[in-house]
Amino acid sequence: MRQRFLLDGMLGSLSRWMRMGGYDTEYNKNIPDDDLIEEALKGDRILLTRDEALVKRAKKRGVDAIFISHDVDEEALSQLSIELGLTFDPTQARCPKCNHTVEKVAKHEVAGRVPEGTFKTIDDFWVCPSCGSIYWRGSHWQRIIETLNVAGKDAE
Ligand SMILES: [Zn+2]
Repeated sequence: MRQRFLLDGMLGSLSRWMRMGGYDTEYNKNIPDDDLIEEALKGDRILLTRDEALVKRAKKRGVDAIFISHDVDEEALSQLSIELGLTFDPTQARCPKCNHTVEKVAKHEVAGRVPEGTFKTIDDFWVCPSCGSIYWRGSHWQRIIETLNVAGKDAE
């Protein structure tokens, strides 16, 4: 089973990368430390944080916790693939905004909801049933794949 994660309020952009890489990643900006530990315990999630003291406290409570030392998301992803053996798979991407799994939809269902040029040139679309966001693999997709690949390769 793929590991599941809970990220502290400092790691918002990393949470989006983790979701795009296919990992179930909860992120809550305004949650107090004690609640983070509780949430991690309840949800059987690995806690990622920039706060070393929180790592210590979480470990005392039996939570798997990892101190994220890097400021750059790509380097943090590499750290995770080295320490936890994570493999990032953008074909399993979850909604980067809300962590829900996305669903493939028929092209006609997104008519009028995406830019006209995108609708003309792209055939495959995914919708998040939770927040309604629509996704497609446009020009940014290659960059996402490359970033996640590089992060994974550093671990080899
Ligand atoms: Zn969503």
